[in-house]
Amino acid sequence: MNFQLFNTISRQKEIFSPRQGDMVGLYTCGPTVYAPPHLGNLRTYIFEDILKRTLLFNGYKVKHVMNITDVGHLTSDADEGEDKMEKGARTAGKTVWQLAEMYTELFQNNLKDLNILPPDIWCKATDHITEQIALIKKLEDKGYTYQTSDGVYFDTSKLTNYGKLAQLNTAGQKAGARVETNPEKKNPTDFALWKLSPTDAKRQMEWPSPWGTGFPGWHIECSAMAIKYLGETFDIHCGGIDHIPVHHTNEIAQSEAATGKPFVRYWLHGEFLVINEKRMGKSEGNLLTLDWLKNEGVSPLAYRYFCLGTHYRKPLNFSLEAVLSAQKALTNLYNKIATMDKPAIGCAEYEAKFKEAINDDLNTPQALAVVWEMMKSDYPDSAKKQSLLKMDEVLGLGLKNVPKLTIPPEVQALVEDRKRVRLARDYAKADDIRNRLKELGFTVDDTDLGPVVKKLR
Ligand code: AMP
Ligand code: ZN
Repeated sequence: MNFQLFNTISRQKEIFSPRQGDMVGLYTCGPTVYAPPHLGNLRTYIFEDILKRTLLFNGYKVKHVMNITDVGHLTSDADEGEDKMEKGARTAGKTVWQLAEMYTELFQNNLKDLNILPPDIWCKATDHITEQIALIKKLEDKGYTYQTSDGVYFDTSKLTNYGKLAQLNTAGQKAGARVETNPEKKNPTDFALWKLSPTDAKRQMEWPSPWGTGFPGWHIECSAMAIKYLGETFDIHCGGIDHIPVHHTNEIAQSEAATGKPFVRYWLHGEFLVINEKRMGKSEGNLLTLDWLKNEGVSPLAYRYFCLGTHYRKPLNFSLEAVLSAQKALTNLYNKIATMDKPAIGCAEYEAKFKEAINDDLNTPQALAVVWEMMKSDYPDSAKKQSLLKMDEVLGLGLKNVPKLTIPPEVQALVEDRKRVRLARDYAKADDIRNRLKELGFTVDDTDLGPVVKKLR
């Protein structure tokens, strides 16, 4: 059974094998910490968590690096506009450093709530200015850069394969209708490596450099930190699909120009969370956060379950109704597992099917289908429980934390009786039994998994 992942660079599923032994280097682009993460961002981090857990499930060791963008991400991806952090801080009446700390903490709490495994290394852009300057210097020495009145730019025409990830047609772009706002740029696809501080305003975040006081461009941080922690060539890099044409394209350009080596072996990208066919995004004005969802009575793990119901390479349509129905399914699973016996030997047949699904480019909807198929099978509860706990190493739905519910034999006997009378369509009798159960402090739900007993609160 091969483990296959869809590699954006080849646009096909490829058999995965790490560069060195069983060690996998994984870099996931982290958040720009100027606002709370929205449910779209979180969908991407859930997909990346499934990837990491699947790697671990397959016996690999993973070194996972995630950056925190706390400087340099401008309001336009074309290196124009204001720094998102400086703008956000002004609006919030805080310093940029306070803003970064506040939203980094919020982001990390969201990940915890969603049962997303933390990276081995968290790295902040502002803690790696020296590494970024050194990388720009290297590019300058190799002749890949030029200076303008507002900074140092990467000359994309110096590469023959610029844009290979996005399959960009740069010749077409030069002649195309795209409005160029910076007349000093030699090519529309050139991007900033270092931006100089404006002469008429003081920035909160700025550093000295060989080119003058300023701050790094957005893309250079990921190259500098990925190379520092994972090496010049590493295994997997991911993000959302919006990163393909600009951010990741530019990471490849500057990294490969600097090192002369391939940067990343497998690129994985998650599709968007959408509302009414529009991407959830700041400019669309349709942002929803995890806190909002919690206020609506949805648990973060129910949102996680909702995300797993759609493959990561397909757009996922958000609606509260759909998330609530995911919550119902997950609650059924929790209630069922609460009454299950101690783990025994698992259901090998279903574990194999599960692994096949997850190893087929992280097919989580199929993996969940296998879970439900197993739950409805004739295997004993103890075997199902063993397999569920194993599968949850990948799914991360917190199944091992479901407290055990001990059902007194008297209650169990009544539940069996009720099942029998219901089969005989004696619903009046079934209701009598339900009342007796209530007196004993229990209730029973008729779910598609059969009757599920719960304790009354
Ligand atoms: P940002 O903080 O804007 O850099 O985004 C953090 C991550 O969320 C990136 O990997 C983006 O590609 C991803 N992302 C942004 N919008 C969405 C969306 N609507 N659905 C899924 N992922 C998204
Ligand atoms: Zn990045």
